[in-house]
Amino acid sequence: MIPIVIPYGRQDIRDEDVAAVEAVLRSKWLTQGPAVPRFEEAVAARCGASHAVAANNATSVLHLACMALDLKPGDALWTTPNTFVASANCGRYCGASVDFVDIDRDSLNLDPIALAAKLEQAEKGGKLPKVVVAVDFAGLSCDMAAIGALADRYGFRIIEDASHAIGGHYQGQPVGNGRHADITVFSFHPVKIITTGEGGMALCNDAALAERMARLRSHGIRQNAAIQAAEGPWYYEQIELGFNYRMTDIQAALGYSQLARLDDYVAARRRLADRYDRLLAGFPLRTPWRDAKAESAWHLYVIRLEDSARRRAVFEHLRAAGIGVNVHYIPVHLQPDYRHLGFAPGDFPIAEDYYTRAITLPLYPGLSDAEQDRVVSELRAALA
Ligand SMILES: *Cc1c(COP(=O)(O)O)cnc(C)c1O
Repeated sequence: MIPIVIPYGRQDIRDEDVAAVEAVLRSKWLTQGPAVPRFEEAVAARCGASHAVAANNATSVLHLACMALDLKPGDALWTTPNTFVASANCGRYCGASVDFVDIDRDSLNLDPIALAAKLEQAEKGGKLPKVVVAVDFAGLSCDMAAIGALADRYGFRIIEDASHAIGGHYQGQPVGNGRHADITVFSFHPVKIITTGEGGMALCNDAALAERMARLRSHGIRQNAAIQAAEGPWYYEQIELGFNYRMTDIQAALGYSQLARLDDYVAARRRLADRYDRLLAGFPLRTPWRDAKAESAWHLYVIRLEDSARRRAVFEHLRAAGIGVNVHYIPVHLQPDYRHLGFAPGDFPIAEDYYTRAITLPLYPGLSDAEQDRVVSELRAALA
């Protein structure tokens, strides 16, 4: 195997992060202590939401969000095919059916026009979705106002999968404030914007939804002063079936420490993205689209080759040069496990065409200009 010298994404861990984690390791609480609520409150405040629920990863958070929105067998969840499988799988965990809406050619996000057309058809057939998962691809917010207007008209709930997008903005406001989403989900996997090792968080502005997600995160158990006063200080009760999806205090301390550098991270990513745009001018490819309504958090920098037939050779050239390029995403409906459900090539042609051209270039705050220059010169050689 060729060693990857420049990965596509990489965490940034500083001495203060190590000290924060060490302090928890030496404290009384490794889990269920004060670090998790402190991290939750800090992210909620930072993003302008009133409630936050942290969990062991974003996949669990998506599951909690679907459960809290009462997604059940017989219901439908719709999402974009241009995402990680978790955005769709969460519906299936609840026994719901999953369907997709094709993407916009420019933003690469779920296309509100295609969504409107599919909703109109679904209404005639009496099979409207209960939940739509809108994914902020590469860190760029979906057109949430347009999707929100459709939610008002057709009555579905919105989960914004902002796994790529903490620190991003939409219409001048932070992603996660819940203006157009019932629940927003962040991932803190090491390739994402800030990390807790593994971890995720749900933000929302509805106390009942937050309370339900928090209860489901811990076995569906309720424990509070009122019920203990009635039954005894040992008392707790499981009132519905939940899971153990808790985040540890070790993870939360790392996340809280990382959160202090969120703006710096996004600024560093944006500077490198702008620099890629300049360096790649004139190459036979399309650089990421810029949206007047949104400021991306720049989780990913994705180029689209004019000639899709060359994608594999270009990708292999870069990997052979030690550059850890990647592809985001194989359309979810083309995964074997989804084809078994009846999906087939041709179902979502814009996402499928995009996939044949896409290459994700390295982008992370610690990427040096010299390393970025090397990526660009290898790409030039590969395209020559
Ligand atoms: C990373 C990611 C997830 C899953 O996050 P985990 O924290 O790894 O579970 C879900 N959706 C999208 C769009 C992602 O990129």
